[in-house]
Amino acid sequence: MELTFLYPEGKLKALTFSYDDGVAQDRRLIEIFNRSGMKGTFNLNAGLQDSHNNKIHLNELNTVYAGHEIACHGKLHPFMERQPLLSRVEDVLEDRKILEQAVGKIVNGMAYPYGTYDSRVIHTLTALGIVYSRTVRSTGGFGLPDNFLEWHPTCHHRENMAEIGKRFLAGSYPLALFYVWGHSYEFDNNNNWNIIEDFCAQMAGQENIWYAANMEIYEYVTALRSVVTSADGRIVKNPSALSVWLRTEDYRVLEVKSGQTLAIF
Ligand SMILES: [Zn+2]
Repeated sequence: MELTFLYPEGKLKALTFSYDDGVAQDRRLIEIFNRSGMKGTFNLNAGLQDSHNNKIHLNELNTVYAGHEIACHGKLHPFMERQPLLSRVEDVLEDRKILEQAVGKIVNGMAYPYGTYDSRVIHTLTALGIVYSRTVRSTGGFGLPDNFLEWHPTCHHRENMAEIGKRFLAGSYPLALFYVWGHSYEFDNNNNWNIIEDFCAQMAGQENIWYAANMEIYEYVTALRSVVTSADGRIVKNPSALSVWLRTEDYRVLEVKSGQTLAIF
């Protein structure tokens, strides 16, 4: 019995967004996301949020970003690979501590400031409990990352998002992920809020798409990667804390609950 992984509720595809720097225009973007059922991750600089009027202040985070994910983006938005080790440690740890105190939740996702990193940066993040970090290297594709600390997005929102969206909607590969990133102030600067409005309308309300924040995808895919099966594929064990969904070769969709071992007949 060959099995294929699916997203929650047996969905084939997922769509996620990642927006950086915690700026005032995030409010308008979130309004668009909420109207169309999209979920996003917002990457914030704890040490800068209260420093400008055009930023979302720390005491507003829980209201402005309600229903979406807050993640790290460096306390002071440094080039992390150009810092001494201990400066980098302080920047990441302080970003986490300040954001976590502000929102009362664990904040352990991230996007690299300027998108830059090296193997030493990845090592630091691993040691400080960051479980995923987004780069700025567009793939144009719908794959999942091998290493979540090098999570390459599908595209920036300026990169022909609508065309890639058509390809995404037409496809039927399991575990396809469309990952869009950007800065919401760019929509003001370029006077093109219509591109994100249109894209969200194009993507909204699809039965086969899971609309999820970055951390939800990380946690679900990590649960999938922990699944164990018998050699003949007829016994499936889910040792994780989440339900997982699979499809059999005769196209039955199965939910295997947390901790469950399921025999397939
Ligand atoms: Zn940034």
